Amino acid sequence: MLLFTPGPTPVSQNVRNAMSDETMHHRTPEFEAIFEKTRKHLFNLFNTDEVIMLASSGTGAMEAAVINLCHNTLLSVNSGKFGERFGKIATANGLQNVEIKNEWNTPVSIEAIVEAVKNNSDIDAIAVQISESAGGLRHPVEELAKAVKEINSNIMIIADGITAVGVEKIDVTNIDCLIAGSQKALMLPPGLSILGLSNSAIEKVGAGKGYYLNLASEIKKQKQNTTAYTAATTLIIGLLEVLETIEKDGGVEALYEITAIRAEAVKASLQALGLHVYPTSPAKSMTTIDDENASEIRKLLKEEFDVNVAGGQDHLKGKIFRINQMGLIPVYEMAWVVNSVELALDKLGRRTYDGTANKVFNEIYFGVSK
Ligand SMILES: *Cc1c(COP(=O)(O)O)cnc(C)c1O
Repeated sequence: MLLFTPGPTPVSQNVRNAMSDETMHHRTPEFEAIFEKTRKHLFNLFNTDEVIMLASSGTGAMEAAVINLCHNTLLSVNSGKFGERFGKIATANGLQNVEIKNEWNTPVSIEAIVEAVKNNSDIDAIAVQISESAGGLRHPVEELAKAVKEINSNIMIIADGITAVGVEKIDVTNIDCLIAGSQKALMLPPGLSILGLSNSAIEKVGAGKGYYLNLASEIKKQKQNTTAYTAATTLIIGLLEVLETIEKDGGVEALYEITAIRAEAVKASLQALGLHVYPTSPAKSMTTIDDENASEIRKLLKEEFDVNVAGGQDHLKGKIFRINQMGLIPVYEMAWVVNSVELALDKLGRRTYDGTANKVFNEIYFGVSK
């Protein structure tokens, strides 16, 4: 079965092998050397002043960011489940929350952010997804961050890049905290999250907040290539293998380029079948289609063609399907995925099969003439 859900993503054989060694003690020079190498690669990936690895799923890093970087009121962007989560984290931690809510296909507008910030001087942090995975949406985070910093440079910009880091180049000039998670674009099992921090963020963290998620204790330790509590050793060993594989394959720039071309080729091939792309500003991390037969298409993909794609949650349950674009994806697998969607449409009596999806996919991906 091909796993094409936008998280978890498949873990490649070399990474599984790397993680199958005997358990290493985390307070040893051997592990510290691995930790140091991993950090170096992460600085290259994040382009931030500091990087911190936590033994938690992505939500742990979201909570660490909110409690350490927001001391008064959080402005959160809710165009889906993950944006909604930031608001819930703020409230659960006794912080004030102001939310800008939109339909799951609609990115936040810069004007709405600017207005909210100008109207409420208590807002000291903004949390937003770069790629909102609920509907496969790309928010204009870099532009939003720039506009906010022009109004008040002390406002912290928390960017959830769990389905963006490793997918596309992110301009971190005005971002204070950039979050990633192991089981999405980093192609690892779940359980490790990473935060990239700006120097202003480190300043705001100060003595830190919370206990396990206190970023001050982690910053202090991780600068010395160790962690405050037991490190997720196996996952970090796996992460180093992933980052070294990306390096060997031409580096992150090559990965961003191939991801963008593949996402474009998939989008165009599905549109050529008459399918509709759900978000008005699609993220490169996944291709999201809204369709009245979304459930039937997913079922056929799984049962007849061995392809597992994700559906929708809440009010989008049965209304969308999402195809992963994150990670090192063999092109022949993706060619099979778009072909399977076309075959499924034929089986549903929607459209007679004629090979259009693969034709359009190949034309764009391989740049062959039409
Ligand atoms: C998956 C995801 C999360 C949550 O991560 P968990 O690892 O499930 O805690 C947060 N934000 C986005 C955008 C995600 O895709």
